[in-house]
Amino acid sequence: MAAEKATTKHKYVYGFAEGNKDLKDLLGGKGANLAEMTNLGLPVPPGFIITTEACKAYLATGAEPDGLAEQVATHLAALESAMGKRLGDPADPLLVSVRSGAKFSMPGMMETVLNVGLNDESVAGLARQASDGGPGSGDRFAWDSYRRLIQMFGKTVCDVPGEEFEHALDDAKRAKGTTNDLDLDADDLRALVGAYKKIFAKHTGREFPQPPREQLDLAVRAVFESWNAERAVLYRRQERIPADLGTAVNIVAMVFGNLGPDSGTGVAFTRDPATGNQGIYGDYLANAQGEDVVAGIRNTVPLQELERIDKRSYDELLRNMATLEGHYRDLCDIEFTIERGKLWMLQTRVGKRTAAAAFNIANHLVDEGMIDLDEALHRVNGAQLAQLMFPRFDLSGSPEVVTTGVGASPGAAVGRVVFTSARAVELAGQGERVILVRRETNPDDLPGMIAAQGILTARGGKTSHAAVVARGMGKTCLCGADNLDVDVKAGRFTVGGHVVNEGDIVSIDGTSGCLYLGEVPVRPSEVVQYFEGSVDPATSTDPLVVAVHRIIGHADEVRRLRVRTNADTGEDAARARRFGAEGIGLCRTEHMFLGDRRELVERLILARTESERNEALDALLPLQRADFVEIFREMDGLPVTVRLIDPPLHEFLPSLEELAVHVAVAQERGEDPGKDQALLAAVRRMHEQNPMLGLRGVRLGLVIPGLFAMQVRAITEAAAQLVAEGRDPRPEIMVPLVGAVQELETVRVEAEKIISEVTREHAVEVLIGTMIEVPRAALTAGQIAEAAEFFSFGTNDLTQMAWGFSRDDVEGAFFWRYLELGIFGISPFESLDRDGVGRLVRIAVDEGRAARPGLKIGVCGEHGGDPESVHFFHEVGLDYVSCSPFRVPVARLEAGRAVIESSGSDSR
Ligand code: PEP
Ligand code: MG
Repeated sequence: MAAEKATTKHKYVYGFAEGNKDLKDLLGGKGANLAEMTNLGLPVPPGFIITTEACKAYLATGAEPDGLAEQVATHLAALESAMGKRLGDPADPLLVSVRSGAKFSMPGMMETVLNVGLNDESVAGLARQASDGGPGSGDRFAWDSYRRLIQMFGKTVCDVPGEEFEHALDDAKRAKGTTNDLDLDADDLRALVGAYKKIFAKHTGREFPQPPREQLDLAVRAVFESWNAERAVLYRRQERIPADLGTAVNIVAMVFGNLGPDSGTGVAFTRDPATGNQGIYGDYLANAQGEDVVAGIRNTVPLQELERIDKRSYDELLRNMATLEGHYRDLCDIEFTIERGKLWMLQTRVGKRTAAAAFNIANHLVDEGMIDLDEALHRVNGAQLAQLMFPRFDLSGSPEVVTTGVGASPGAAVGRVVFTSARAVELAGQGERVILVRRETNPDDLPGMIAAQGILTARGGKTSHAAVVARGMGKTCLCGADNLDVDVKAGRFTVGGHVVNEGDIVSIDGTSGCLYLGEVPVRPSEVVQYFEGSVDPATSTDPLVVAVHRIIGHADEVRRLRVRTNADTGEDAARARRFGAEGIGLCRTEHMFLGDRRELVERLILARTESERNEALDALLPLQRADFVEIFREMDGLPVTVRLIDPPLHEFLPSLEELAVHVAVAQERGEDPGKDQALLAAVRRMHEQNPMLGLRGVRLGLVIPGLFAMQVRAITEAAAQLVAEGRDPRPEIMVPLVGAVQELETVRVEAEKIISEVTREHAVEVLIGTMIEVPRAALTAGQIAEAAEFFSFGTNDLTQMAWGFSRDDVEGAFFWRYLELGIFGISPFESLDRDGVGRLVRIAVDEGRAARPGLKIGVCGEHGGDPESVHFFHEVGLDYVSCSPFRVPVARLEAGRAVIESSGSDSR
């Protein structure tokens, strides 16, 4: 009994009939699907699978686990009896392929050995098997198969350098006066086998192994070991595939597509993976093996040609494709081989597809009654929707990529190069399209960024100023372009030997991060036109618009998370509303202090007396009020969270260096530096070594009397004005960078006074809440909730402060190394770090709600529009996410998907 239990527990080998598609963890994707096809009664060559558990045991101990050898023997015997042949039998050999197959597809990363079982004796048996009647007609095929085995086995199992075999093959062709493998006859190939065996012996110090079972065992071991091959490790890191899954090994009876004109090999898709359209898609190559298709030695023909070549196999293939699609309820891709008129199915899987195809297929399958809308929603994702929302370059002319950088804000932008914000505004005013090129951007560049089609910088990553602001505006941005040398003074940049002057045209791709010189044609996005309201889904003939409309509509029905937007202008607010935003989660007020208001801010900072300061504040008040009136009007009836000013005030003053030079030059000339002198002293006084950790956010409000009060008054007066107009403004005042409840309480006392004063005539409800973006705020959320009517997580700062990473520097400086080392798979500024920052979020949610039940909680950091992070925010019970206007549809979709996935309706 005990012994029996032990064997069941350590079942390392499965016959195809024992598996199914849901056992991918254990049998790998390829093995699980081969098992599924076998059980569907499709013609799969017989075989068996060694499990990922066996691989993991081997990798842990360096030896095959106990029991594996016997189980392989048992399954091999079953395979031999099914085929009526023995492995490597000299008279009539069974040959097998030994292929890797992990849970997730890792194309070309691991090893495969074909024709296992061939040796000096069985090669003659194979020749007989392969002969089509004429004496010696199978010889060429058999010797070619044998030389392929030695080559693959030598290279993958014994690390013989592949070039040596290639050179020997080239020598044989040269001796024959040809460049085509097919011109080598049986004698040439027999001689080549001799040469290959010598190469094998030279490198391994032993002869090529003759016993078939030894070949098999060594090949299995090589597949196990290929899990940790350098390229496989790298691929897994890039694709974020866990390192400890191991690979399964598929051992399958060989079938041959290269036995003559009635044999061949091909690939097929049940729908077009590019568009999702129904039809027959694929390629076929007669008299060839799969490897020949990959090598591209001969041209394939469209799959439809097979109907003419071999109608019986073609019809059977179409029937099998329909069976598979009906069974998997999805696009399947298929590899098949025809051996002398007999069709064999070698592989299938749910096929990869473009973003457009993903939406179209999901929608068609709902129409066909194959899946429901929940499943359709599960089958698409926000990253795909985001791709569909950007205009794209038409690359059919193959333009040259002159450099690449971080695709920081997607899209395709074309325009004339300009190097200053002022020039961008000037040229745009003349109707020119411009690309603003800077080493890096700062708040001063904002007008130029608004005027430009796109932004190109030499420094910075996905959370640099340029990236964050550009994403907020939905503007194309390429950051940190390699080898981009920007010379603003000379009005040019150089890159890889090219010199680009102001006025020259460039094209930047903010999705791929590619820079092109000259104009590359651009196509607009139909999906954006739909969200903008200029395409009516009820009458649209574009299937993509119809599909997106239906699926996102379902997401809206099922999602629990609300979706707001980060917007600072009426225009952004209006667009976000069209895109489905249900309010503003973050209105940053600092942009409202730039441009011609800068001088007022200077006066505020330089004020020496209370009355000077009040004068400046009084001048700012009506301007601020007008800003809020515009925004509240666009968001009528929906909540608008206005954040009081956050960044250090010195950001609004001129640069220390420039001023110092000005003053010094004036003094040198004996002139009076005038106002500059006082300004310089103020800039010096306010200079900070670490401004991000300095006088900003609530600290600023507590230090500069009247500043927050002016903003609170502007917000409340704007709301009161709209109430008087019969509208429904819903202002929420948010205090940034709070770390202690006392900070918030101090601001609150002053704010409440102003609010009650202003609202005496027109009742407006104004909520007061705080950002949670300092770790201490998260850790004392219970106390802070006593003074806050809402929380909004500022996950940009929370990430910065939890990790101690400067958000403006690290991505461009060293994140590449961290990603390479696998310290994280994706920048924590892009996708929320669940373990660390996420833990702070959970603590704050739990303790905040414990102290104030029903506390409204959202997030307004960049993560609010990141698909993975949206799922996390759903999971921890936030009320809403807030993101840039262009990400609103993505967040809506993902908020819906989060519900479907957490309710476990993942049926695949
Ligand atoms: C944040 O820190 O996440 C946030 C939204 O504020 P900002 O990016 O303006 O610092
Ligand atoms: Mg912040």
